[in-house]
Amino acid sequence: MSITASSVWEECLSFIKDNIKQQAYKTWFEPIKPIKLSGEALTIQVPSKFFYEWLEEHYIKLLRVALVKQLGDDAKLIYDVRMENNYSSNNPHTVKFPSSNRNPIKSQGVTAPIDFNKRELKNPFIIPGIQKVKIESQLNPNYNFKSFVEGDSNRLARSAGMAVANKPGGTSFNPLLVYGGVGLGKTHIAHAIGVEIKDKYPDKTVLYISSEKFTQQYIDSVKGNTRNDFIHFYQMIDVLIIDDVQFLSGKTGTQDVFFHIFNHLHQNGKQVILTSDKAPVDMQDIEQRLLSRFKWGLSAELQAPDYETRVSILENKLFRDGVEMPTEIVEYIAKNIKSNVRELEGVLISMIAQASFNRKEFTLSLTKQIVDKFVKNTKREVSIDYIQKIVSNYFELDVATLQSKTRKRHIVQARQLAMYFAKRMTKASLASIGSQIGKRDHATVLHACKTVDNLTETDKQFRRYVDDITKKLTF
Ligand code: ADP
Ligand code: MG
Repeated sequence: MSITASSVWEECLSFIKDNIKQQAYKTWFEPIKPIKLSGEALTIQVPSKFFYEWLEEHYIKLLRVALVKQLGDDAKLIYDVRMENNYSSNNPHTVKFPSSNRNPIKSQGVTAPIDFNKRELKNPFIIPGIQKVKIESQLNPNYNFKSFVEGDSNRLARSAGMAVANKPGGTSFNPLLVYGGVGLGKTHIAHAIGVEIKDKYPDKTVLYISSEKFTQQYIDSVKGNTRNDFIHFYQMIDVLIIDDVQFLSGKTGTQDVFFHIFNHLHQNGKQVILTSDKAPVDMQDIEQRLLSRFKWGLSAELQAPDYETRVSILENKLFRDGVEMPTEIVEYIAKNIKSNVRELEGVLISMIAQASFNRKEFTLSLTKQIVDKFVKNTKREVSIDYIQKIVSNYFELDVATLQSKTRKRHIVQARQLAMYFAKRMTKASLASIGSQIGKRDHATVLHACKTVDNLTETDKQFRRYVDDITKKLTF
């Protein structure tokens, strides 16, 4: 039997496999391809420069032992770094590694920007007799339930999502609306539901689309005189997932067409899944009839994860990436990055990149440096209490007066300003702002915001108030 690059590498792998954790093996060794053997030199292809550096840094001893066993003391290893065109080599910090590269062969098709196949829109798919048109789901398989860590902050949304995935269209969660602030996992959960459905019901037509893309397609269809095709296309779908529906606000044409599509799907027992950055009561410039549809099913909120969940999310990610990190460092990150899972991941990715490129260890001081950068870059969020204090001070009132029921004009104005700033500078919902500023309802807060907007445009004195208070609140 002749020795080839493959046979040598295979032997090496079986040795390596026995000596490291399975997850690390999968991450760092499965993607490698043996490509050439000349004498004692084995050439292996790795997916990126980063990958090569990581191997050199962490697994070189193991690799050496494995190779020497196969090729003798003079064994040599040569890396062939496959340059991917979307990862420019002079800007290595943008390499999203390892998460997006975890399974390079499979994920390539997924991470590449997928252009929605417009031809399908023009296809005459309503030809009688032709039942199924193949529609690409546009789902990202990495966003699944397994990789979505459960915690108190997301339990409702997660279990509702699972229930929907088990019985699409067959639960009372139709539509399922998942809402919450940025980076809390709305898109992840939306994909996870779709991925799970595709897994359980491969014949179902699932489509994930952002509301911006949906809007663009609709506009194009109007321009191209294919509005009916557009509608028919969407009416064929079994599970329609629309991400970030808040972007439909103010777009009446798109809302109208979505209303018809929604009704058709709902009446036919098809599942609709929506995400939004706000609860339905807080959505502005969305038609009432559409809002009332949104409330038919279940609205589940994603909240910011608590400390334990943040630790689990970090550990989960490290595990998946086959990276080990001291517990005290993981805890430090979880303690300091609180508001947003995307940032949590961002810190990890920076850490792994830094450690690898500069050949540094994961140290607490490196962690502090990176965490600091992230925390500084995110705006400090002021509290509603603080806003009320500043506004009251400015008008020489006390907070109790600001919150009181009095209708005196200057106090009403101060109250409205407090509501306006609370809306602008915190992530609180209209309802929660109202309840904290003198127990008003969300409509009062909405009205206050509109009044302040109007007055700032028409009243110079009022504009001054807004500018002054803005300064006080931001410095
Ligand atoms: P949103 O759409 O709400 O802005 P995303 O779904 O894009 O947020 O989530 C941001 C990042 O955080 C994604 O990489 C996602 O995988 C990750 N993430 C969010 N929540 C979780 C969770 N509970 N477990 C694991 N990863 C999470
Ligand atoms: Mg999103």
